[in-house]
Amino acid sequence: MAPPTAQELFNRNVEYKDTHPPIPSFEELYASGDQAATVAVITCADPRCIPENFLKLNVGEAVILRNAGSNIHEAMRSLIAIDCLIGLKEIMVVNHTDCGATVFRNDSIRTVLKERVPGKNEEVDAMKFGEITTSQEDTVRASIKFLKESPFLRQELKAGTTGYVYDLRKGSLQLIE
Ligand SMILES: [Zn+2]
Repeated sequence: MAPPTAQELFNRNVEYKDTHPPIPSFEELYASGDQAATVAVITCADPRCIPENFLKLNVGEAVILRNAGSNIHEAMRSLIAIDCLIGLKEIMVVNHTDCGATVFRNDSIRTVLKERVPGKNEEVDAMKFGEITTSQEDTVRASIKFLKESPFLRQELKAGTTGYVYDLRKGSLQLIE
């Protein structure tokens, strides 16, 4: 079956909104003595990799940052901004099996861009698209190393960083570090 179009997804929302429970504002949340999410999950934008499902998340329980390949460098801007806003305690880095980022190559994307936009070769050569050239286990280890060595993250957050590989077939998370 063909995946839904944007119009079809919008139509789903028209149905959904009638069942939508209002979500508390930050102000209401803090006034009631609750706290915002303390765990940030960095994972892949792959439509088969849905942390809300495999972590059984409810509204407000975790911050989810998704991008192509669970790329830690790309996630840093959001991670730092959100930590400054709500004060995170832990980070979970979750790569997954059969990830598209292990298939595409920075250079092949650069070639496409250079053909599409002539005269920007220098700019294009500096672009990185998050290709993964090592095993997912080693990629997770490298991401954790990067986080722990970053001068921009608080010590508490570094100490609370763990990494996993999510198995698309089994639904299980394998703890890497
Ligand atoms: Zn992926």
